[in-house]
Amino acid sequence: MAKIMEGKRLAEEIKSNVKQKVEMLDGMGIDVGLALMLVGDNLSSKQYLSAILKACKSTGITPYEYRFPESVSMNELLNSVHAINNDERIHGLLVFFPLPRRINSRKIVNSILPEKDVDGLGSIPIGKFAAEESTLQLCSKQYDPAITQHLGFLPCTPFGVIRLLEYYNVEIKGKHAVVIGKSLAVGKPLSLMLLTKEATVTVCHRETKNLAEMTRQADILCVAAGRPNLITGDMVKDGVVVVDIGINVLENSRVVGDIDFDSVSKKASLITPVPGGVGPVTIAMLLENTVKSAKARI
Ligand code: NAD
Repeated sequence: MAKIMEGKRLAEEIKSNVKQKVEMLDGMGIDVGLALMLVGDNLSSKQYLSAILKACKSTGITPYEYRFPESVSMNELLNSVHAINNDERIHGLLVFFPLPRRINSRKIVNSILPEKDVDGLGSIPIGKFAAEESTLQLCSKQYDPAITQHLGFLPCTPFGVIRLLEYYNVEIKGKHAVVIGKSLAVGKPLSLMLLTKEATVTVCHRETKNLAEMTRQADILCVAAGRPNLITGDMVKDGVVVVDIGINVLENSRVVGDIDFDSVSKKASLITPVPGGVGPVTIAMLLENTVKSAKARI
């Protein structure tokens, strides 16, 4: 039976560290601020927002909520991002996805100043990471805010997955990591991060033929497809380390991941639960990036 990777526990440690830094900055007269931009009524986004608000409260970070109706114009959103960019009280901005289809999400994300792009999804931070200009952050736990200022932040979810694997002493170097999903927010940056850590990486997606053939080869399997029960026990080998990134809200409001936990946990050596796995670590990484941004501006 697999050992559980308790994301919640790691998240509490990261947040306690963030809290100390927030208090230190407070002593210098700096109130750390995080802007949260939500358009419309998406249930998952609203749940994510309320979890972030709770985490802000527990760490002393001041949240600034920017809520818009579904009918908001591109121009209004861009004007708000520009106002946030120029607002000295705010050190980071997170935009909740999905945005309405008629809104050009990339244009919104790319209008965030890189030093306030704490979700690390703009073309500049992503490009710098792909060009191996910001890999130091991934390899050194002793972050230097001055470095982040120049290089941009790493995306919170994949960075959180790496931190979780390290927390449980999972050797990444030389292992075969299989990532399911190739989105810009999760799968693609996670594959790059695992590659940076010198894993042999296979990336699968909805057009991959014989998914099980790929997943059975994995020493480390990371799944971010948004499909409940996509991975079952017969699709993994004994001893695999499994990270379930999926968050799926079922009709009965139950939240599940992409893994059939019961069958996969019988074969895995380590596995993340949903909820309580990657989700809380993602939020903790967002707060860590926000406090780094505030420190970089001292
Ligand atoms: P996305 O829809 O942008 O990407 C999904 C990816 O999965 C695509 O690349 C697609 O090709 C692949 N895919 C879909 N169906 C597949 C299948 N049957 N077989 C193989 N690949 C398949 O989604 P995303 O933003 O990357 O998010 C993925 C999941 O992770 C969602 O459930 C989301 O809610 C969750 N998520 C969790 C966190 C967290 O903090 N835990 C953060 C972000 C996203």
